[in-house]
Amino acid sequence: MSFLTSVREDLYKNRLKRGCCRMCEGYAAMLFRPDPWKTQGYLKFSDELSIAYYRALLKNIFSENCETAAGPKGGSRLFLNVQSLLKQYPFLTETTVHTEFFNCENCIPAFIRGAFLACGKISDPQKEYHLELIVKDEQLSWELCRFMQQRGLDAKITERQNRFVVYLKESENIEDFLTMTGCVNAALEIMNAKALKDLRNNLNRKTNFETANIQKSSASCAKHLEAISILERSGVLQTLPDDLQTAAKARQEHIDLSLNELGALLGLSRSGIFHRLDKLVKLAKQQHPS
Ligand SMILES: [Zn+2]
Repeated sequence: MSFLTSVREDLYKNRLKRGCCRMCEGYAAMLFRPDPWKTQGYLKFSDELSIAYYRALLKNIFSENCETAAGPKGGSRLFLNVQSLLKQYPFLTETTVHTEFFNCENCIPAFIRGAFLACGKISDPQKEYHLELIVKDEQLSWELCRFMQQRGLDAKITERQNRFVVYLKESENIEDFLTMTGCVNAALEIMNAKALKDLRNNLNRKTNFETANIQKSSASCAKHLEAISILERSGVLQTLPDDLQTAAKARQEHIDLSLNELGALLGLSRSGIFHRLDKLVKLAKQQHPS
C-alpha cells in the first residue's frame, strides 16, 4: 500500500464532527477537484474507499441539491446533479474562495483537508519529505497557500505543466499538516520514519568515525614498526637507553594494541609511550634520511 493510500484511509476514518467544518471540507473537495465534473456530470475515483467517503460527505452537505449515485463500472464514478448543485451553490465554479462558511477555528483546517482530498499527494517518508496539492487555477493556488501559511505551515508554490503546485517540505511541516487535517496516525508514521533515519545516520557517522580512527592508528603503528626495524638493522637499537628499547619491544610484540593500551602495559600514559615511539622515529630518520 502506498503512503498516500494509508494517509487517505487515516483521513477517511476520522470524519469531522461539526456541520460548519464538514461544509468547508466538502466545498474545497469540490472546488479543487482536477476532473471537469461541471461538464462531465460526475467525479471519477480510483478506489472504493474514496468514492464512499465522497458520497457520504456530499450527501451530508448537498443532500437536497445533489443526487449522488455510484456508476456502473465498479463504482468508480459518482454522478452529480450539476444543474441543481450549481443553482444552489454557484460559487463552486468560481476561483475565489468564499469564506462566509468559515465559522469556527477548525474551518480553515477542514477546508485544507478538503483540498488535500481533491488534489493532494504525499511521498513515502522513507524516501523523501514532500507533500503537494496540484491546483488548476493560479488564484486558487495562492488562496490555498495563504490559508496554509496562516496556520503556520511553510507552504510554497511552484508551476509545473500548466498547474500550480502548493507544496511542503521538511518532516515537521508535513507532520503539522497531517495532524491539523486529522491524519494523526500518518503523522506518527512520519515521526517514526524520521527517528529511524536519524538513528541510522548517527550509527553510520559513528562507524565512519571509528573506521577512520582505526586507519589512523594502524598507519601510526606501521610508522613505528618501520622505524624500529631500521634501528634494529643498523645496530642502533641495541645501543639506546632501556626505556626506548622496552618501548620498541612492546610495540613489536603487541601491534594490535592502541597507544593507550600499550602505555598501560608499561605503566605509562598515552603521551609517555607516544614520546618514546616518536623518539625512535626521529632516530631512525637520522639513520635513513629521506
Ligand atoms: Zn467549523
